[in-house]
Amino acid sequence: MNSVSLLDTPVSRPPPSDAGLINVSRAFVCRCGQPIFFRNSICLACGAPLGYDPERGVLIPLADQPEPEADQPESEADNEVWQSAEPTQPERRYARCSNLNTAAGCNWLTPLGNALTPTHTLCLCCRLTRRIPDLGVDDHAGWWCRIETAKRRLVSSLLGMRLPVVPLDDDPEQGLAFDILTSSDETPIVTGHEDGVITLDAQEADDPTRELRRTQLLEPYRTLLGHLRHETGHYYWRRLVEHSDWLELFRSEFGDEREDYRAALQKHYSEGPPPDWRLNHVSAYASSHPWEDWAETWAHYLHMTDTLDTAQSFGLQGERLELVYEPFEASVLGQSGVHSATFLRLLNQWMQLAGVLNELSRSMGMPDFYPFVLSPPAVRKLHLVHRIIGAVDARWNPDLGTWSEPLDDPS
Ligand SMILES: [Zn+2]
Ligand SMILES: [Zn+2]
Ligand SMILES: [Zn+2]
Repeated sequence: MNSVSLLDTPVSRPPPSDAGLINVSRAFVCRCGQPIFFRNSICLACGAPLGYDPERGVLIPLADQPEPEADQPESEADNEVWQSAEPTQPERRYARCSNLNTAAGCNWLTPLGNALTPTHTLCLCCRLTRRIPDLGVDDHAGWWCRIETAKRRLVSSLLGMRLPVVPLDDDPEQGLAFDILTSSDETPIVTGHEDGVITLDAQEADDPTRELRRTQLLEPYRTLLGHLRHETGHYYWRRLVEHSDWLELFRSEFGDEREDYRAALQKHYSEGPPPDWRLNHVSAYASSHPWEDWAETWAHYLHMTDTLDTAQSFGLQGERLELVYEPFEASVLGQSGVHSATFLRLLNQWMQLAGVLNELSRSMGMPDFYPFVLSPPAVRKLHLVHRIIGAVDARWNPDLGTWSEPLDDPS
């Protein structure tokens, strides 16, 4: 099992662009000409039904459905085949995710191959969720909605970067699953990752709870999306690094992950981070253990790329902003200059954009948009994440619909 499981046919996504740096577009237009957004399931201007095609990474207006026949069985009506309102080449047909009319409010589509009946009624993103909280309990439906909304954002980025996204059901060895659980007195839930299963404490979707935890842990930033990105970092470490040629390079940048993990976390929580953590890590928590350093750095890389995708989708280019900024030069990357031009461009665009976004946040009396400072070692770690993701990216061949040899490897 090697790739994005929903694909029966080769995809027609654009090849990775060295210049554009956009993985996923975030700006879409309805057939009526009005802007529509990633989360929308209906156009507020013209009423067109909208769906997100994860294969192409686009939100599209859908053609109206004929009214169901009076004698049509309900099960058939639920299994409608949808088409784009605008003709596509080749013609594409879709099923809507059966979570559309649940609290999850999922607007994703499942592209249909030759068979017009979908194999699954849930979309790829919803199929990753294995367990959810009891929706009969107060607040749980709202929490689940927020978590799935963050998860769709995350998964669209992962697909855009051509990382493998395969439900654990399809691939018990290497697949991914999410358990969204609530704590009880007997069984407290701890957010984390183990063997392809990401467990998320659903109460993190409750704003007062999450804010309390953030202040108790002295964190500058704590969000659902941040949690999900961090935990996928652990998952992809196992998939992309643990048994690969990258491991040696990983250890040289992040340290030796064979250090006792449990003891390291205990030390972090009892003694706090070393006073000079800012010189080496993206966050205080990243200093606790090489695995956490990787997961934090991975999450930062996803923050950067998704925000840049969004900014560039709307024509906001870091390079064109009027902010005096001393860019990072290639020397910051030391020996590992491979693919450095693309990375440095991404990094410097990000630093410029984040500088301006921080000022905008201050204008609104809000906390900083990006409350982090990147030291040279943290930049080198981000570069390694970039290279490892880039190598996976290079394996995907859209013409063949298969994975080919990596272009970038540690040697
Ligand atoms: Zn419209
Ligand atoms: Zn869905
Ligand atoms: Zn972690």
